[in-house]
Amino acid sequence: METKTIYIAGLGLIGGSLALGIKRDHPDYEVLGYNRSDKSRNIALERGLVDEATANFAEFAPRADVIILAVPIKQTIAFIRSLTDMPLKDNVIITDAGSTKAEIVAAAETYLDPSQVQFVGSHPMAGSHKSGAIAADVNLFENAYYIFTPTSLTRETTIPQMKEILTGLHARFVQIDAAEHDRVTGQVSHFPHILAASLMEQAGAYAKDHELTNRFAAGGFRDMTRIAESEPGMWTSILLSNKQA
Ligand code: NAD
Repeated sequence: METKTIYIAGLGLIGGSLALGIKRDHPDYEVLGYNRSDKSRNIALERGLVDEATANFAEFAPRADVIILAVPIKQTIAFIRSLTDMPLKDNVIITDAGSTKAEIVAAAETYLDPSQVQFVGSHPMAGSHKSGAIAADVNLFENAYYIFTPTSLTRETTIPQMKEILTGLHARFVQIDAAEHDRVTGQVSHFPHILAASLMEQAGAYAKDHELTNRFAAGGFRDMTRIAESEPGMWTSILLSNKQA
């Protein structure tokens, strides 16, 4: 089997879990990582998520057969743009992990050259309120949908190659148009986050004048607000990149 070099930018929950999942079925692959903070970079090296790690995104890009951008959406777009100035391998596959797809796909189609690189949007649909390399879990994507959103830079072989690289995730691969992805996830994922956060906010304000609120909040309230614990920065980025839906 042909060995590959996979470069994962962002060694957080998603990037770290992807690294573990890829290594599970492809221990011979070289997995390189970028992370801006020392903390997740060091944890990723200590836990063996990656073989080498850098704090300089440009450093490993030229070595990669596949580049996976697993950073917040705004930063994903910034990295797509910056890749145009880097000496990449011919036909490198670039993909991402962002929770919304239309803006990322549009950026790839605007900035990247289809004669030089391949790009397919990706959304591994599993996660948690935890973050960082410390939370990486090889089983995170078990039976989860792993969505591919094709672009004008996706060749016939791009998605089959990605599926082969990602077999160790044990995920269920699905292909869908980026705009449709954003509408559906807006309905069943993004809007529920707005509801949960709003309910927490309202109950928090109410509790200031009604001290029994906290004591009476029980199972129903907990079920409705569990996801309000999610990382607010990431969710701001998701909501702002899917305003219309
Ligand atoms: P995380 O907080 O665990 O990791 C984010 C990573 O991005 C970290 O390595 C952090 O250092 C890096 N990062 C953040 N801002 C950066 C910046 N400005 N420049 C460079 N690096 C930066 O978050 P995560 O859950 O792994 O999310 C990563 C991506 O995966 C996001 O695009 C998110 O939308 C997507 N996603 C998240 C979930 C989830 O439930 N957590 C599920 C599916 C997809």
